[in-house]
Amino acid sequence: MRDLLDCTLPEITEYIQALGQPKYRAEQVFFHLHGNGNGGVIPKISEMQNLPKALREQLEKDFFVTEIDILKELISTDGNTRKFLTKINDAYAESVLMRYKHGDTVCISTQAGCKMGCTFCASAESGFHRNLTAGEYCAQVYLAKNHAEALQASGQSLKNIVLMGCGEPLDNFGETIKFIELITHPKGLNLSQRNITLSTCGLVPQIYALADLNLKITLAVSLHAPTDEIRAAIMPIAKKYPLDELLRACKYYEKTRRRITFEYALIKGVNDSVSHAKALAKLLRGMLCHVNLIPVNKARGGFSPAAQNEVRGFAAVLEDRNIPVTVRRSLGADIDAACGQLRGECK
Ligand code: SAH
Repeated sequence: MRDLLDCTLPEITEYIQALGQPKYRAEQVFFHLHGNGNGGVIPKISEMQNLPKALREQLEKDFFVTEIDILKELISTDGNTRKFLTKINDAYAESVLMRYKHGDTVCISTQAGCKMGCTFCASAESGFHRNLTAGEYCAQVYLAKNHAEALQASGQSLKNIVLMGCGEPLDNFGETIKFIELITHPKGLNLSQRNITLSTCGLVPQIYALADLNLKITLAVSLHAPTDEIRAAIMPIAKKYPLDELLRACKYYEKTRRRITFEYALIKGVNDSVSHAKALAKLLRGMLCHVNLIPVNKARGGFSPAAQNEVRGFAAVLEDRNIPVTVRRSLGADIDAACGQLRGECK
């Protein structure tokens, strides 16, 4: 049986037409599942009341619809961050809803567990379980949207989606691209590609493939070090794809005319000195990019965050060399919902 939530509109249309039903029925099904009229709640097939009963019964024979249940919800003390540990079908996943002045952002997981093994990231701790499907990505978004709307009457809606939870989105390439198609569909949530950020640890062939799709999403690359030696010590993927190959792929990505974000977690005594900052500036010179610094969060590996003055000093070196830089405000550390603290398992 297939997951109806994981089907694109052309796929549903093909199925519906093979049944001899009019094409608009496919749009009705798709709108039930993905349209923002549903308040983010994923309906059951039996609830799709504007479909003929016979069609509903046929759909129920051929499809299921992803189910997502909250096992645990944690709310930060300031109330602005909520972490959901969910069970999606048979997988555990974590997602985080962050409330900013300019709108809500949801951070979703793309895999249950992760294969990449970054030494500072909790997601690597329990290994890899399975890829999530595009429908399962959507389920996390709709759950968060539903929550966000229930939280406030003002109708402020979900604005941004970041693929920065558990997992490596480019290691699940097909589902990630399908998700972007589903979530930006005019008959669905109709989100703009510009409001989606995809973060990767740097899978070079997939960065080229993504560039060729010419999407308007923001690509974030987890760099975290200015040399192969330091990078390989904290990120195993660096042994497969050294920095010169990674940066060549990032330069190729400039064909999309979208500015790449380089993420850089500052780890005390590992990658946070002025000389590291100078080396980073040299590496990125002339690129259409932006550096996002974040003092490393407590997760695994026993690393400590760089001190405030170290962070400021690091940023100043980049600024002096005309590399745009921001220091990321970390949300949700008190509930283990900050970057690198998602595990995607039931603990
Ligand atoms: N696999 C993707 C996306 C998931 S992680 C990637 O590697 O980019 C999302 C971001 O959180 C990445 O930049 C990751 O390197 C960063 N991160 C992981 N652990 C962290 C930690 N302990 N502190 C700060 N950032 C961390």
